[in-house]
This record gives sequence, C-alpha cells and structure tokens, in this order.
Amino acid sequence: MEEFDVVVIGSGPGGYVAAIRAAQLGLKTACIEKDAPLGGTCLNVGCIPSKTLLHASEEYWKFRTKGQELGLLFQGISFDWSIMQKKRSSVISGFNQGIDWLFKKNKITRFLGTGSLVSPQEIAIRKGEETSTIRAKNIILATGSEPIPLPFLPFDEKIVLSSTGALALEHVPKTLIVIGAGVIGVELGSVYARLGSKVQFIEFLDRICPTMDEMVSREFEVILQTLGLQFALSSKVTGATIAEGNIQLDVEDQKSKEKRTYAAEAVLVCIGRRPFAKGLNLEKVGIAMTPKGQVAVDNLFRTSKPNIYAIGDLIDGPMLAHKASEEGVAVAEIIAGHQPVIDYVAIPNVIYTSPEVAAVGMTEAEAKNFNLKVKTGIFYFKANSRARCIGEEEGFVKIIAHADTDRLLGIHIVGCHASEMIASCAVAIHKKMTALELANLAFAHPTLSEAIKEAALAVHKRTIHS
Ligand SMILES: Cc1cc2nc3c(=O)[nH]c(=O)nc-3n(C[C@H](O)[C@H](O)[C@H](O)COP(=O)(O)OP(=O)(O)OC[C@H]3O[C@@H](n4cnc5c(N)ncnc54)[C@H](O)[C@@H]3O)c2cc1C
Repeated sequence: MEEFDVVVIGSGPGGYVAAIRAAQLGLKTACIEKDAPLGGTCLNVGCIPSKTLLHASEEYWKFRTKGQELGLLFQGISFDWSIMQKKRSSVISGFNQGIDWLFKKNKITRFLGTGSLVSPQEIAIRKGEETSTIRAKNIILATGSEPIPLPFLPFDEKIVLSSTGALALEHVPKTLIVIGAGVIGVELGSVYARLGSKVQFIEFLDRICPTMDEMVSREFEVILQTLGLQFALSSKVTGATIAEGNIQLDVEDQKSKEKRTYAAEAVLVCIGRRPFAKGLNLEKVGIAMTPKGQVAVDNLFRTSKPNIYAIGDLIDGPMLAHKASEEGVAVAEIIAGHQPVIDYVAIPNVIYTSPEVAAVGMTEAEAKNFNLKVKTGIFYFKANSRARCIGEEEGFVKIIAHADTDRLLGIHIVGCHASEMIASCAVAIHKKMTALELANLAFAHPTLSEAIKEAALAVHKRTIHS
C-alpha cells in the first residue's frame, strides 16, 4: 500500500495550498479530491465565478448609469448573459489547469475520488465502484462547507437556488427573491439587479450583513437601495408554494407580526453555510466535533487524533478562502516541525459589491463588548479628491482606536476599491499601529487611500479636508 507523509482530503484554497506547502517542505504529499476539477468551492462555485459575474455586471451598470457624467456616450448598450457565463467558465478552467500544473510542479500525487478514513493512518478512496486504500503519517481534512437549505425548501437549482445554482442560471430572471442579506446574498443579488432583475431580500435580522460594523451596514443598505435592491428586514419566511414556474413565499414581520407574501421567478436561499464532513467517516475513527458540527481542533489544528488535522471552513472561524489558505500553510509547517503563527485579528473580510465593503479588526460594538474605551474617526469619500474625479463618492472610512492608547482596533471601509485598500489597513492592525502613526504616514495624492489617513486624523479631530 502506498504511503505518504501527508495526505490532504479536499482541494479548496485550504487543501491545495496545504498540499503545495507540504511538498515545498520536502514531505511526500498526496491530495484526494472527489470532484474532477481542483480548487474547491472558492474556485469552482464561490469567490472566483462570483467575482467574474460581479465585475461584468458592474461594468455594464457603470457604463449605463455613470458614463454620461464622464462624457462617455453609448447607444443601445446591452449585455449577453451567455458570454458572461462563458467568461465565468473560462476563468475557472484556467485556474483548474493552474492548480493541476502546480501539483505536477511540486510532485503532489492527485487522487480523484471520495476520501474516507479507515483508521487514523489509512484512507479509502472511492471512485464509482472502485475503492483503493493509501496510508498516511499525517492527514489534513480540508473538505470545506456546503450551503444550508431551508427545511421546507430544498434546492432544485431551477426555482429554489443555492449560490451554486445562482451562478449558473440559464437566463437573468425578471424577479428574484433572496432569502438572507449576508455577504453571498448581497453579492449575487446585486449581480442580477444590475442586469435588470427586480430583487427582493428577506432578512430575519433587523439589518443587512449583520457581522459588519452597524454604521457600515446601515450606510451600505441605503447605497444598495439606490441600485434598486429592496429589503424586508426583521422578516421570517414561514412557508413556500411553487406553482407554474413561480414561487410564492409566506413571510412574517418579526416586529408587527404582519403576514405578507412575495412572489418571484426564483428564490436564492443564502442563509449560511455549514461544514461538510459527509463521507469522511469521522465517527469511525473517533474524531470529536463541536456543537456547531465543525471538526474540533486545538491551536495546532490537531483533531482528537493527533496525526489528523483539520482546516478551513470545516473548523471554527470565518468561512473565508484566505483564512483557509493561511491555515493550509500553517498546518503544513506545523507537520514539518515549524512554529507558524496566524494573526486572525488581521484577517480582512470583503463584500465585493459596488461600492465594496471591507473591514479588518473589531467593529465598534465588538470593542465595547470587550469593555474597551473607544474613539472613532470617520472620513467620507465625497470629500476625497480621487473619488470626485472618478465619480465614486459613496461611502466612508471609519477607524476605531483605543481611547487611551490610540492603538488601532478596527478599520472599516465602504467605498470603491475597498477590497484593495483594506490590505494596508490589515498591515497597520497587524503591526499594532496607533491611529496617529497611521495619520502621520504620507499617502499618494490623489488616491482613495487618502481617506484612510484622513479618518486616522479624524480620530484626533485633525482632518484637513472636512
Ligand atoms: C458564492 C460564494 C462566494 C464566495 N466568495 C468569497 C470571497 O470572495 N472571498 C472569500 O474569502 N471567500 C469567499 N467564499 C467562501 C470560500 O469559498 C470558502 O471559505 C473557501 O472555499 C473554503 O475553503 P476550504 O478549502 O475550507 O473548502 P472548499 O473550498 O469548500 O473545498 C473543499 C473541497 O473538498 C472536497 N471534498 C469534500 N469532501 C471530500 C471527500 N470526502 N473526499 C474528497 N474530496 C472532498 C470538495 O469537493 C471541495 O473541492 C465564497 C463562497 C461562496 C459559496
């Protein structure tokens, strides 16, 4: 039976990165993936296809709504959904081949099939009727997550869509309901809204993207409404009827208890994702789980079997591709005897709408929950020269610092290119900078990033441009 130093199960951004790092460190490495293309959720049905469609729909929307202001005149501007879908597929397949190539380059053995633990050192690989078994000194579980359905509304990917189905619709629906106004819901909802769908959100909580800083999510909601997105907040879906290719949802307002119905061509259910461990046979080898259904790990990513590790969406923490990849690198290094450290506080998260939303560190509410005394600085993009030049004046930068020490606690951006700007903020948080240190840095002029400097100055009531 073939034996490896490391066998990774799952080839998402956690698994494939772990495999590459393990191989770089000289470990004989294999990766088992049940799907033919490598890359997991992120590459095949997540980050990459959604950003491809977000970009195309955003360009279309901008030409239509902002072109004239910039002196760009178009006649009969339209879009071709099938070409957008082809672009989505070609971007994905390019990266699928890229990971294949990286595996070959790093001499990683790739097994196509479902990996299942036979013992803490043996893994069965099932492909159709065939099963083979390999041995591993160390196993990394990186099997990711799956979308959660509503109990009374199973996904059919035609009328009742998960994010996977919503990325590959055959046509743009005239009407779409999105249940859940979290990150994935607002991203995919805004793709279709920009292309002409009437999009209605139904959100159980009283604000959208509830993990974001409250001021950010309130501003963001107002901006998204100008795009035409409609939000029914504090609303619970209690039932559904599908008839004649349409869906009707029964909804109850959580505050007034008023009952309403909403109808659309399709409904996208984005109420969250859950760890995916089906088929791994974890009970058989005695791997402990958390009450939330995640694989329980210690601070070295070890499960209750010390040679079996778990990373990414399968374990606790934000379900983010870059978090999974950092854990993939760290776990490979731990197996090789190194002592890596991940700074979870400095992991940014982003919503890739237009404008974007990006954050790193604590929200104001989180800081207050830790009994930290805070001071804040806010700078609006409408007073930023670059934002005015490019007609992207929506949003602001909000900086939260400790009231006594001035140490940066959180930086939140609603605005164009927030996803790129947040990288420098993550460095500042990681380096434990103070607001004044950030304010004293020179930022190139004219750039959107100057709003970060001004927000840091605002913490000290010293803004120059507002
Ligand atoms: C629509 C959407 C958009 C997203 N956008 C972003 C974004 O912009 N930025 C971001 O950071 N995150 C984003 N995410 C989240 C991101 O995709 C996940 O956090 C990330 O993919 C998790 O990586 P992972 O390696 O843990 O697992 P996954 O990427 O889920 O990969 C797990 C892999 O394991 C395989 N597998 C499962 N069980 C077995 C088995 N028994 N044997 C063999 N193989 C198995 C699966 O087939 C899969 O390929 C998005 C997610 C979605 C759905």
